[in-house]
Amino acid sequence: MKLLVIGSGGREHALAWKLVQSPRVEKVFVAPGNAGTANEHGLENITISGIPALIDFAQSQKIAFTVVGPELPLAEGLVDAFLGAGLKIFGPTRKAAQLEISKSFAKDFMYRHNIPTAAYATFTDAQAAHQYIDQQGAPIVIKAAGLAAGKGVIVAPTLEMAHDAIDQILISKHFGEAGVEIIIEEFLQGTEVSFIVMCDGQHVLPLATSQDHKRLLDGDTGPNTGGMGAYSPTPFISPGLHAQILREVIYPAIHGMADEGTPYTGFLYAGLMITKDNHVSVLEFNCRMGDPETQPILMRLKSDLSTLIEQALDGTLDQAETDWDRRVALGIVMAAGGYPENPRKGDIITGLSDLMTRQDSVDDFHIFHSGTALTNNNQQEFVTAGGRVLCVTALGDNLKLAQQHAYDIAKRIRFDNSCMRHDIGYHGIDFIYKS
Ligand code: AMP
Repeated sequence: MKLLVIGSGGREHALAWKLVQSPRVEKVFVAPGNAGTANEHGLENITISGIPALIDFAQSQKIAFTVVGPELPLAEGLVDAFLGAGLKIFGPTRKAAQLEISKSFAKDFMYRHNIPTAAYATFTDAQAAHQYIDQQGAPIVIKAAGLAAGKGVIVAPTLEMAHDAIDQILISKHFGEAGVEIIIEEFLQGTEVSFIVMCDGQHVLPLATSQDHKRLLDGDTGPNTGGMGAYSPTPFISPGLHAQILREVIYPAIHGMADEGTPYTGFLYAGLMITKDNHVSVLEFNCRMGDPETQPILMRLKSDLSTLIEQALDGTLDQAETDWDRRVALGIVMAAGGYPENPRKGDIITGLSDLMTRQDSVDDFHIFHSGTALTNNNQQEFVTAGGRVLCVTALGDNLKLAQQHAYDIAKRIRFDNSCMRHDIGYHGIDFIYKS
């Protein structure tokens, strides 16, 4: 089989890397991919963009199925267009992807289907929003309703910050069209976890659990980012809590989408807050795998991902089974200086090529690329080319060992002004060793 993966981040690198491990897969094309996918055995980047050209490519290459990594192509209707052309593709239609594309749709949907989530109100008028938060008090959370690359959420500890956030989004249009409407949400306290499943419209196959680290700096401080590191599995999700999440969140969401005439096919990601008394609350739905959660999750997946996706496309996910490496996987994001606001580009990355050669002969670490490029004069010299640059992902017999292993590798990679957190995994380690 020849497959196609859409996207250019670490998540897509991991998806393509995993898919090509199947003996049934001859080649995975990545559109557009990055310098990591360009250097991976069995993967090939293609520069084609635009839905009609991608459809032509998939037809002429006889692509068995396509997997969509990021949310933007979903919002642009890529899945609908592929399905309309009779091509197999794994991802939700534009309508089903409203769960992520529109936070107000998602909140109203959760309300309709009794899915636990923070109390909220929706505004397009700044004056009314200001009045509302004066009544509610702080801390409070202000969210741009549209897609803002994971950056449209402001957790405001004070009313002053909350008023400022309202003006930034509704008046100064900091997030453009994505901020025409805002959601103001009750502030929830607890532990955040990521729960990702595969769906075939009716059935659900849960993937391994994980935990992301969204803030830029150690100790969960600094601004929210796309994610600075993740590990899998997370000790916070006990078997009992796992069953509760499926019962209270995942099944109602999948059945709710089907009942509303928009059956959901694809990866579904629930960002969850678990409070001290094990109350589960949905912070957001994403219509895709998380980045960087995908990297540690797929590092542990022993089953053939192409078979699982085929089962999802056939509507037989209820018969699918997954086998996981018992080790813990932990991924550390190395970001460019200035990330997330204004990332530098073009810094030379040293130490990477050697590690990439070594990773081919071992199974316990892999470096997934996001914002990287190769310099023109030297095809083995990598430079930074985006906010999040790399995700160094390593396995260990327990969370502490996985953490140590990943940091040992990350320390050997250097570029000017590189930025990474030094405490990825700390919630889980504290939980295991202090409880
Ligand atoms: P979202 O994109 O909606 O998941 O929000 C991004 C991040 O903001 C989450 O991962 C949380 O860290 C934080 N956040 C969002 N909603 C809330 C909330 N209601 N209470 C506390 N923190 C929140």
